[in-house]
Amino acid sequence: MRVLIVGAGIAGVAAARGFLAAGHEVTVLERSPALRETGCAILIWHNGTTVLDDLGVRMDGAGQRLEAIEVRSSRGRRVMVMDLERLAAHFGAPAVSLPRRVLLDRLAEGLPEDIFRFGARFAKAHDDGRSVRVETEDGTQYTGDLLIGADGVNSQVRTALFGPQPARPTGTATWQGLIKAPFDPGTRAQIFLGPHGDFGLNPSGDGTVQWLIDFRLRPGDVHEPRHVALAALRQRYGSWGSPVPELLEALTEEDLGLFPHRRHRAPLRWGRGRSVLIGDAVHAMPPMLAQGAGQGLEDVSALLRALAAAGRRDPAAALTAALAAYERSRRRSATLASALATQAVATGGPRAFLTQNEWALRGAVAMPGGLGTWMLRRLIRGVSARL
Ligand SMILES: Cc1cc2nc3c(=O)[nH]c(=O)nc-3n(C[C@H](O)[C@H](O)[C@H](O)COP(=O)(O)OP(=O)(O)OC[C@H]3O[C@@H](n4cnc5c(N)ncnc54)[C@H](O)[C@@H]3O)c2cc1C
Repeated sequence: MRVLIVGAGIAGVAAARGFLAAGHEVTVLERSPALRETGCAILIWHNGTTVLDDLGVRMDGAGQRLEAIEVRSSRGRRVMVMDLERLAAHFGAPAVSLPRRVLLDRLAEGLPEDIFRFGARFAKAHDDGRSVRVETEDGTQYTGDLLIGADGVNSQVRTALFGPQPARPTGTATWQGLIKAPFDPGTRAQIFLGPHGDFGLNPSGDGTVQWLIDFRLRPGDVHEPRHVALAALRQRYGSWGSPVPELLEALTEEDLGLFPHRRHRAPLRWGRGRSVLIGDAVHAMPPMLAQGAGQGLEDVSALLRALAAAGRRDPAAALTAALAAYERSRRRSATLASALATQAVATGGPRAFLTQNEWALRGAVAMPGGLGTWMLRRLIRGVSARL
């Protein structure tokens, strides 16, 4: 089958890898001049690393394998530990935090360079039932048997299929960055919960730490000059438990990245005719569960499985059946991941009180050991069609 993939992000390159390995002819259209080299670190949970393993992606030396997540109150009191090594043994795959560019490089490792068309911006598609024809903005045309839209949250493929259905702002946002840690980053992620939202620290390999602050976005935050924002962050979080103040002191304005959250309300249709969507193109979600990229990898895995199961009888009927099976297999878990990720920023009400109040958090210390790990295990299985 001739497969056209629009977008060379994590989902698109993973799809290219999987479809090539399954014996298909692959062309990837990417608007940028090269694979993305920027971006911070990203956490890939056990479901995502399982798919990476299925795809034969080499992960040795990439980022930091995480042993545990420690949940702390804003003062630094440890209220819960989730044992990720136990989950790694259970699922047969670890949780890893690694720079995006490292993940993209590893996904692209060994792929023939000539499958990529850089500087190729998708403009429109025409499906005549027997094949699908894509035209890029410069007028070049490509013909395939299957079009995969992996072009991210502002997907033009989705717009071409279903009209404009933009992802909506959720009213929350993340400040984040990846820096050389001014302390030993260790092998455990930490989340501090407090009155202004949560503060996460993920060791990401080579002495680096990915820091994240999730909070309720206020009008004006987006346009705030970086030096004002940095001063405000130091004032708001500077008295939290160690190593939050040390990290804030080490930050410069250039280290700050602000990402307002957006979400596609599920269920969107996942495809039409010979075209299908994967990754953020179909289910952009806030980064609160760190499952966005993981869900894109799940899509690739489910799409490949559905096509393999459809066999090679009447090819058109097999493709239709496979795309329907793909959508069915992914809808529930992606919808759940998106819903949980959206609820995860407690911005008010009793839940905010329970998760952000020092005294209320002390109650969590009384929870049986292992409960946090068990809850996380259920969550990861719940948002996965692969595990
Ligand atoms: C602050 C933040 C933190 C996050 N942390 C995590 C995390 O820890 N773990 C996790 O799993 N997820 C995380 N995510 C989510 C994750 O980044 C996304 O879900 C993931 O990158 C989506 O991958 P994708 O390939 O679907 O889309 P993208 O990465 O957006 O890739 C889309 C590609 O398509 C290209 N493109 C776009 N339009 C066109 C066009 N018209 N023609 C051709 N090419 C086009 C783009 O240039 C791009 O290369 C985070 C997100 C944010 C904002």
